[in-house]
Amino acid sequence: MSGKTRTLKFRTELEQLLDIIIHSLYSEKEIFLRELISNACDAIDKARFEGLTNPAILEDGNDWYVRLATDSENGTLTVSDNGMGMSEESIVEHLGTIARSGTQEFLQRLQQADAAERPTLIGQFGVGFYSAFMVADRVTVDSKMADQPAVRWESTGKGKFNLSEGTRTTRGTEITLHLKEDAQEFLDDYRLRAVVKKYSDFVEHPILKATAAPAQEGEESEAAEPVDETLNSRKALWLRSPSDVEESEYEEFYKQVSKDFEAPARTIHFSAEGALEFRSLLFLPARKPMDFAWSEPKAGVQLYVQRVLIMQECEELLPLYLRFVRGVVDSSDLPLNVSREILQQNDVLARIRKALVNKVLRVLGQMKEKEYDAYVDFYREFGATLKEGVHQDFEQREALTRLLLFDSVATGEGSYLSLDQYIEAMPESQDVIHYLIGENRAALVNSPYVERMRERGEDVLLLTDPIDEFMVSSIGEYEGKTLQAADRGSVEDDSDELKEAAERFAGLLTAMQEKLAEVKEVRLSARLTTSASCLVADDGAMSAHLERLMSRMGRGEEAPPQPRILELNAKHPAVEALWKLHSADASDQRVEDYARLLYDQAVLAEGSKVGDPSAMARRINDLIARSVTG
Ligand code: ADP
Ligand code: MG
Repeated sequence: MSGKTRTLKFRTELEQLLDIIIHSLYSEKEIFLRELISNACDAIDKARFEGLTNPAILEDGNDWYVRLATDSENGTLTVSDNGMGMSEESIVEHLGTIARSGTQEFLQRLQQADAAERPTLIGQFGVGFYSAFMVADRVTVDSKMADQPAVRWESTGKGKFNLSEGTRTTRGTEITLHLKEDAQEFLDDYRLRAVVKKYSDFVEHPILKATAAPAQEGEESEAAEPVDETLNSRKALWLRSPSDVEESEYEEFYKQVSKDFEAPARTIHFSAEGALEFRSLLFLPARKPMDFAWSEPKAGVQLYVQRVLIMQECEELLPLYLRFVRGVVDSSDLPLNVSREILQQNDVLARIRKALVNKVLRVLGQMKEKEYDAYVDFYREFGATLKEGVHQDFEQREALTRLLLFDSVATGEGSYLSLDQYIEAMPESQDVIHYLIGENRAALVNSPYVERMRERGEDVLLLTDPIDEFMVSSIGEYEGKTLQAADRGSVEDDSDELKEAAERFAGLLTAMQEKLAEVKEVRLSARLTTSASCLVADDGAMSAHLERLMSRMGRGEEAPPQPRILELNAKHPAVEALWKLHSADASDQRVEDYARLLYDQAVLAEGSKVGDPSAMARRINDLIARSVTG
């Protein structure tokens, strides 16, 4: 950089973000320290990890520390570390932009959230570094990577930052905060200690602060050399026995690893000894993290090998359908210098994973049996994620299926039943499990497809998660009972009444089929009691809902719309009237018009869009006009 100073601009979203952080988190401003310490620790973990395979990185030593230092004369607080450091390029990338796709959405949510929620949001998004500007009106970052020149970044947080040559000679980063008038409290030793204790006590690396040694008897007080004091307890809870850990310690630890601000719904502290040795401390969050629904699915458990953090989000430890689980796993059976490739094929890890999955599913099963209400709360948050497992994990499919809860016609809104409860309540005549998939409960529960089943006292599971199509086809059958879509195949009815009606209606049905090119067949229905018509898919065919889902996912080509079967309710006055019209004069134009109206209403009832809405409106208007003028 040859001694010159360059001035660069922040990305626009970043400026907005900074503004919100500074102004909305005022009462929580102490969290800046947690953020800077956590960045320092991340940088140390990275250096330590890279050092395993590239010892050159460790030339400046590996006696890891984070250090706090204050200078009351100049009003500065410095947080330094001997971690990985940053090169000029990485400092521009990491401290000048936010390389995250969700930034826009995050900003929006942050603006909508009330003040109490904002710190949680900030924590979850790791916009950590910028929180320094809550307490500082100027921040300088001096950093050096092992094999790179030192670099200095400086900004007042107002849209621009300066880059110049740095003065650091050893690997690491030093962040100096020029504290604002109203943030001078962070020069105070007690205040700093309290904040470290509150947020960073379990941090593995020592957080050091030089403290004046107490003057010895008879000594001149200015002769006392300052000594380093470690402010955090550094307790790795997972290595302790559960009986030695207080509930409040678990809670604090959970908040640290998950960045959640709420207590976990469940703590699973579990270790294995013998052939397979590991320790784990896992948590079920009480609520979905804010970005859970729209961010890339990623694992929530960290892998340690003998207290050394090897991987932050370790996908090999738990399958993605358990990605809501947070916590740590520590194994002494793995080599320290494992690479991702090795991890993927590692037998020890595969066995740990299996043990963890079994354990988590067992805990969930117990919750469902013994603490149903707590389980329902959990299920509301993460049930849809669990369902992915039914589809993906053949080995655990049965166990997962037992954990499922369903909304149904009988449960009413907001309650659930299990498949066992469903089967228990089946009338004797019923031999399959009915389900109906669609966009929302209200549309499903009022749809023509469930009319007859309701009348017969047969319950129908109502499914509205996008994953449900895949889930039910994976389950196939449960306890010998097939899961059958209510909008597919035919409903059995071999009553004489229906046979007679079929004969009587034969002419109309053929005529309608000729006029409605888009349907595969027109037939009388045993499914309907109050509606006039509905569309059903063939037994093996894709449902309308799945077609819509595929087209939304951009996979419409794999699921071209398939012709459906139009079913009519012979007892409906409108169908009866159409029959009369057709019998009297098969060439009456109204036969086609009304047939189309019966078809269009069936299209609407299945949740799809009518092909030509204005033609439909014309036909309805025509009907209105006729009915009034006679
Ligand atoms: P996050 O920690 O979630 O990535 P931050 O805003 O806290 O977000 O930090 C942004 C990035 O800046 C980090 O990912 C890291 O690359 C870099 N960084 C911040 N502090 C340090 C540090 N002390 N040492 C090395 N890199 C750092
Ligand atoms: Mg951070």
